[in-house]
Amino acid sequence: MTAAPSEASKAATAEAVFARLQALYPDAHCELDHDSPFQLLVATVLSAQTTDVLVNQVTPELFERWPTPEKLAEAEYADVERTLNRIGMFRQKAKNIINLARQLTELHGQEVPRSLAELVALPGVGRKTANVVLGVAFGAPEGVVVDTHVQRLSQRLGWTVETTPEKIEQVLMRLFPRRNWDALSHTLIFHGRRVCDARRPACAACGVSDACPSAFNAEGVGRKPPRKRVAEPKAVAKPQRGAAAKKRSKPPTPPSKASSAPRRS
Ligand code: SF4
Repeated sequence: MTAAPSEASKAATAEAVFARLQALYPDAHCELDHDSPFQLLVATVLSAQTTDVLVNQVTPELFERWPTPEKLAEAEYADVERTLNRIGMFRQKAKNIINLARQLTELHGQEVPRSLAELVALPGVGRKTANVVLGVAFGAPEGVVVDTHVQRLSQRLGWTVETTPEKIEQVLMRLFPRRNWDALSHTLIFHGRRVCDARRPACAACGVSDACPSAFNAEGVGRKPPRKRVAEPKAVAKPQRGAAAKKRSKPPTPPSKASSAPRRS
């Protein structure tokens, strides 16, 4: 019986594959357009459940009209909603970014805070968003950003059997040194978007297929389970009672000879 690989050897294997992916995507970076930590924070809040491409379509107008936390804090909800209405959950997001801007103005002197604890206290900011900002804007992530691509790739590459972002993040934080946390998620996201697609992974074109335990058999690995359809209850005929039942259960009268005779034209 072969012994299970130690944590150290798993980490060494994972780091070797990551180094090869990094060589394939040396420019892997956050694809949300931004010019400041404030813009990055807002864009990341907007990116929940929608694509970076769509967010990048709405943020130029948003940042032109409300360029600072102070200006956005004073914006009318309806105006911001109109600017965001191409992205999913735009009403909730409009509310979140205005309230976020108010808190930045009132509590943080218009600066984006630099700690996870302070960031997750802001409206619409979860651990993932906070770590995007800490990693990209300040180079100091306090965790690994686990989005749908990072989740899928970590499973396909055999780095984890966990299925929730929270647990996968803990595994990745143990496997990789902190200095790689930020680059790790950008690199996996680049590979996931370009090659290791959720439905159709291009294993034949993948630069790490020789080291991937899911190669050429990955379609079922790391994907969200299909939603279960709830079957419609079948209509059950109501039992008939009394005269109505008798009337309906009466056999049909056979057609008379006259009516069944072929017509002459
Ligand atoms: S070999 Fe296939 S499943 Fe593995 S990382 Fe590459 S594309 Fe993804």
